Amino acid sequence: MSFRRPRGTQDLLPAEAARWRRVTGSMRRCLESYGYGEIRTPVFEETELFVRGVGTGTDIVQKEMYTFPDRKGRNLTLRPEGTAPVARAYLENNLGHEGGVRRFYYLGPMFRYDRPQAGRFREFFQVGAEAIGSALPELDVEVIDAMMNMLRDLGLVGLAVEINSVGHPACRAVYEDALGAALARESASLCPTCIERTRTNPLRVLDCKNQSCQEVAARLPVLREFLCDDCRAHYGAVLAGLESLGVPYTENPRLVRGLDYYTRTAFEVHYPPLGAQSALGGGGRYDGLIEACGGPPTPAVGFSCGIERVLVALDERGAAAVAPAVPVLVLPLGEASRRRALALAGVLRHTAPAAVDLTGRSLKAQLRAADRSGARIAVILGDDELGRGEAILRDLEAGTQTAHPLDAVPEMVRAAMARAAVAGSPPTPPSASGGRP
Ligand code: AMP
Repeated sequence: MSFRRPRGTQDLLPAEAARWRRVTGSMRRCLESYGYGEIRTPVFEETELFVRGVGTGTDIVQKEMYTFPDRKGRNLTLRPEGTAPVARAYLENNLGHEGGVRRFYYLGPMFRYDRPQAGRFREFFQVGAEAIGSALPELDVEVIDAMMNMLRDLGLVGLAVEINSVGHPACRAVYEDALGAALARESASLCPTCIERTRTNPLRVLDCKNQSCQEVAARLPVLREFLCDDCRAHYGAVLAGLESLGVPYTENPRLVRGLDYYTRTAFEVHYPPLGAQSALGGGGRYDGLIEACGGPPTPAVGFSCGIERVLVALDERGAAAVAPAVPVLVLPLGEASRRRALALAGVLRHTAPAAVDLTGRSLKAQLRAADRSGARIAVILGDDELGRGEAILRDLEAGTQTAHPLDAVPEMVRAAMARAAVAGSPPTPPSASGGRP
């Protein structure tokens, strides 16, 4: 008798698990740098939490949950998503008692009885962040910016943010009336799932992938035109905040997302080269969720991101794009320069993780290893350069290098790393004149 893993699950073998750790380690570092602290909740919860939190009409609750009675007949569900459990934990542990904004991130397995295909599993992993306790639009901006930087830190460029506002329940109710009337006129052109959705969850018709439903969706009333003044102002402030941070976005009036708890901001982050499964993740505001879970009215906003999708995106971009564990390498040649290199690395670490090559091998071999490591910058400290009080800065992406006075090196490295972070791409070479860029 031989066993196989359940359909829609994966074994993670050591090489892939190591890569997984590198990627999730980088994600954790980014979220922690924004002040988000890790929260771990159980893998299963009371079924009712998801029914009430995610919404009875959603695909998740209707057909995707792994639900089972335990031996005492309690109705439990393997978590299909991470936000409702965080809301439950926030209330149960009285995390709101200090007031202010509480910031959490989670990382772990989720379970959905989905149709397995490329990039779609029944057990998959998500990283997510939740910021609870403020209705200000700048918190939405922070969450979107954190998600983008988490992905950019991994070396992903060309990410596209799609954004919409789904309003709050009162303006959405007016819209749903108008939508219901329009859908009744269009039912002949809808797919069977969407005919069902007109009853259970009409908003989801808007983002059905079926061709004829998309044609119908293009003729349907647009939610944004039904927003009340407050929701409209909130949406405008989110867009303005993204612009001021230089986060590029596209407005998508049909973006509604599949979970009922969203209010106002809804967004998705796509990596277009992935085609049909290009959504790496998304999120939005969920000002009603904590109240729906039995707490006081508490505004909140968050995102969740599929880790398998991110790994596929990194594959597509090439393994070298995975963020190097150490972006700055100091390559010394000779004993005196090794000692100087240790001191220099100490200063460079104020800017970015930096390591010294202490193998004692030739400069050529050190450079070859530096190129392979995926580091961004090499600082070469040969005895000749040291004699002149200089070091060579080599941009490992561009393959260009320039000499600089030793005491200018930390500033040059800082500038190159900052440029790389802003561009979301490898640093441009330092200026050939040897002066400050
Ligand atoms: P959601 O929680 O539905 O908003 O999904 C957020 C992200 O989780 C998606 O954009 C995907 O990256 C990922 N995701 C959702 N469902 C699956 C699945 N069945 N398999 C793999 N990744 C998924």
